[in-house]
Amino acid sequence: MSSNIYDMNYEELEAQLTQWGEPAYRARQVWDGLYQQLYSTPDQFTSLSKAFRQALTENFSSSTESTQPALTALHPVKKLVASDGETVKTLFNLHDHRQVEAVLMRYEKRRTLCISTQAGCAMGCVFCATGQMGFKRDLSSGEIVEQVLFYARQLAQDHEQVTNIVVMGMGEPFHNYEATMQAIHTLNDPHGFNLGARRFTISTVGLIPGIQRFTAEHSQVNLAISLHAADDDLRSQLLPINHKYPLDRLFAACLEYVQTTHRRLSFEWALIQGVNDTPEQARLLAHRLINLRVKGSSLCHVNLIPLNPTGKYSGHASPHSSAVAFKQVLDEAGIACTIRLRRGVEIQAGCGQLASNLAN
Ligand code: SAH
Ligand code: SF4
Repeated sequence: MSSNIYDMNYEELEAQLTQWGEPAYRARQVWDGLYQQLYSTPDQFTSLSKAFRQALTENFSSSTESTQPALTALHPVKKLVASDGETVKTLFNLHDHRQVEAVLMRYEKRRTLCISTQAGCAMGCVFCATGQMGFKRDLSSGEIVEQVLFYARQLAQDHEQVTNIVVMGMGEPFHNYEATMQAIHTLNDPHGFNLGARRFTISTVGLIPGIQRFTAEHSQVNLAISLHAADDDLRSQLLPINHKYPLDRLFAACLEYVQTTHRRLSFEWALIQGVNDTPEQARLLAHRLINLRVKGSSLCHVNLIPLNPTGKYSGHASPHSSAVAFKQVLDEAGIACTIRLRRGVEIQAGCGQLASNLAN
């Protein structure tokens, strides 16, 4: 089977091409073709020799239904457009017929993508559509990168570019840490796709070893923690991983993150009517967040979003009035907080579904 060229980092590509007897600059040309010109077939590399394009075909092209050999391993099979026309979800088939989704959200000048890191998810959060389907497999870094390139090619036709990427689609990014970070690294490369690290946000359910590893990297990539409850009983009911990584330890890791990086940390909170939208939960949350300070300034931000309904969970979205009351408690405690809109709900946009709201 041919390998996926998008799985390679620059050094690996260079080593491969050197092995073929190519000059050192060849890797730069190919990298430029893949990530700046956004080529997806060997034929598009017209500045390179026919023999070289043939070598690309033989080594890296996957079999597709399309007429010409393609480098891509991700095949779009379904597209859903929200009624506002601004949010688009694409379902892709992978080579083994697993499926993943990625979402494009247009909002003013932003072109935000929500991308997936796994097919399914092992974390089993009760209200999450992905969690309800269970874990299928990790995506490779190339499969993560390709979701971005797919939309980048479409946007380029309108002379537009991807401006932001949220890693909030299917799967838990810190459960597939290496592939996720390699994908971001590839997309961040100034000689390639060149999207600034600060344009990325990784959302985690709170895998403490992953948070610690990420902290040690001193990355400029933004981090968001899916919290959803401020006491262990409730959080364990909603997010079973809380049994393993309970709140005291989670917040210790969060504190270490802000103290080490001096970067703002976001917290995601899907408001579920009568479950976690009470003033009591808001007070508990404020109490926990008040400590996330460096030199007196608060380094956290809470995103409140009404729950998006999913098949196997009976909870309902909170009414707006509850969101406002919840926010007021946080406001009074001096905790920054935003109530997000529900965009693209009817197409279940955002896989994890919260992502669509971060575009605004
Ligand atoms: N696994 C990661 C990232 C993917 S989920 C994580 O959990 O953070 C992205 C976000 O969508 C998370 O904050 C998740 O809790 C939230 N989410 C999942 N299902 C949702 C739903 N039905 N309504 C609102 N937000 C949801
Ligand atoms: Fe997995 Fe995130 Fe869904 Fe939880 S919310 S099941 S961690 S994708």
